[in-house]
Amino acid sequence: ASGYSLLRDPHHNKGLAFTEKERDAHYLQGLLPPAVVPQQLQVKKMMNNIRQYQVPLQKYMAMMDLQERNERLFYRLLIDNVEELLPVVYTPTVGEACQKYGSIFRQPQGLFISLKEKGRVLEVLKNWPERHIQVIVVTDGERILGLGDLGCQGMGIPVGKLALYTALGGIRPSSCLPVTIDVGTNNKALLKDEFYIGLRQKRATGQEYAELMHEFMTAVKQIYGEKVLVQFEDFANHNAFDLLAKYGSTHLVFNDDIQGTASVVLSGLISAQKLVGKSLADQTYLFLGAGEAGTGIAELIALEISKQTNTPVEEARKKIWLVDSKGLIVNGRKESLQHFKKPWAHEHEPVTGLLNAVKTLKPTVLIGSSGVGRTFTKDVVEAMATFNERPIILALSNPTSQSECTAEEAYTWSKGRAIFASGSPFDPVEYGGRTFTSGQANNAYIFPGFGLGLIISGAIRVHDDMLLAASEALAAQVTEEHFAKGLLYPPFRDIRKISAHIAAKVAAKAYELGLATRLPQPENLVKYAESCMYSPAYRSYR
Ligand code: NAP
Ligand code: MN
Repeated sequence: ASGYSLLRDPHHNKGLAFTEKERDAHYLQGLLPPAVVPQQLQVKKMMNNIRQYQVPLQKYMAMMDLQERNERLFYRLLIDNVEELLPVVYTPTVGEACQKYGSIFRQPQGLFISLKEKGRVLEVLKNWPERHIQVIVVTDGERILGLGDLGCQGMGIPVGKLALYTALGGIRPSSCLPVTIDVGTNNKALLKDEFYIGLRQKRATGQEYAELMHEFMTAVKQIYGEKVLVQFEDFANHNAFDLLAKYGSTHLVFNDDIQGTASVVLSGLISAQKLVGKSLADQTYLFLGAGEAGTGIAELIALEISKQTNTPVEEARKKIWLVDSKGLIVNGRKESLQHFKKPWAHEHEPVTGLLNAVKTLKPTVLIGSSGVGRTFTKDVVEAMATFNERPIILALSNPTSQSECTAEEAYTWSKGRAIFASGSPFDPVEYGGRTFTSGQANNAYIFPGFGLGLIISGAIRVHDDMLLAASEALAAQVTEEHFAKGLLYPPFRDIRKISAHIAAKVAAKAYELGLATRLPQPENLVKYAESCMYSPAYRSYR
């Protein structure tokens, strides 16, 4: 290849880091200014540039441009500055990017499979330049974060999630495939937006939808084999549960909103046991929001309680209550309930409004998973603080605009007693002469390591026990020092090490369950996981 095209190939480009010898050998002389700059200095320069942008979306665009220009530098930046850049390439900024995706669109990223491609999805997959795919993140854009239906513009999510698969979990970028299934959108503003990039039609549903999804799932297995991981992301719940159930027995599938979220929240609650001196079974849980995240988390908590106390899961569920848009889920409503809510319809009078539910049930743990911001009001937080010495409050909804409350509100209204974590990050808060640092209860802690564990063991199916293993592995990374600060999660700074530990525990579970195909089992799974992780260091071209 010519030097000119080498500079324009993001997988191989090193920019000014090409050495004299490489410049000679690859026809780069004259195409670069004389300076030879090592990667570390390139990182420093890029970080200086990015920090100068005041608007988060500009930082996002600078990062996406870098990914398109010099992939290894992009990952070096992300890995070395993970706490600073996670909010840029992921929640909250990725939410704004998806909302404006059409107008900021430059280079296409990922694979777009629309209804127009129905009947030739396999051909479309073959247009992708890589064949050795290990992880696919796919969305149909119907429930992007807490922002609703963004149609084809949801592509920012699979792209961002896979960047984290590589940066946080060490999956090779060439093995990652972002996919958006475009069946239309019901977002009227987007349908009228002149810059909208998707199909301009109402969402296809029913058979037409199911057929396209089925064609996709079939083609994926045909072309990439049985061990390709398909992560469903940001589907609306009326499809998400069904897709997971339908393909769970034939494919390696994982729904991050249901399962990844469950695993990360359970991990936080396992950690919280130490902070409040109460076991999982001794808590009372109340959720605002009974969709994918809410019921997914609730079910995994119940499973863990049932294992810890050796009681049936039906019994364990009685500690857990959920509120949806119609109020507390109680058994008088059973007939009209969606199937995923039915296990949570306990014997109780109807209760409307979150505040009433809080006052009636006196939960020790309050979890927000409704996608609606500002719902943990002063009254709600104060009520939690009246009957709990240390109320556990998790505001999971993303992005920041949809957070149930801010960190500042949680600490101020509880007079500094809340144990708080949120889906999108908040800066530390000063209250009463103390600094409170809250954790980020986000599935980004789990899915990269979880996926790595599946890949290194050659797992062919996902099992709930693997989710429990991931939760325990993450909780085991929380140290006394973190607890002293009231943190439920370790800092993202250490995420690659954390991911390796999660991967090892998930892989071990896969072997134990007979779901692993990579034989023999490596002796030290943590070391093995680490050795498999992608490094963004430049390679030398001879
Ligand atoms: P979903 O399946 O659509 O569920 C939303 C639930 O909230 C539904 O049960 C809905 O009630 C309920 N709800 C909506 N408005 C409400 C209101 N005003 N009052 C009470 N309940 C209300 O969505 P999801 O997948 O669970 O996601 C929800 C949120 O969680 C999103 O913001 C998402 O970004 C966030 N999330 C965070 C993480 C993380 O890692 N932190 C992971 C996944 C998701 P009905 O059933 O009655 O409609
Ligand atoms: Mn999601």
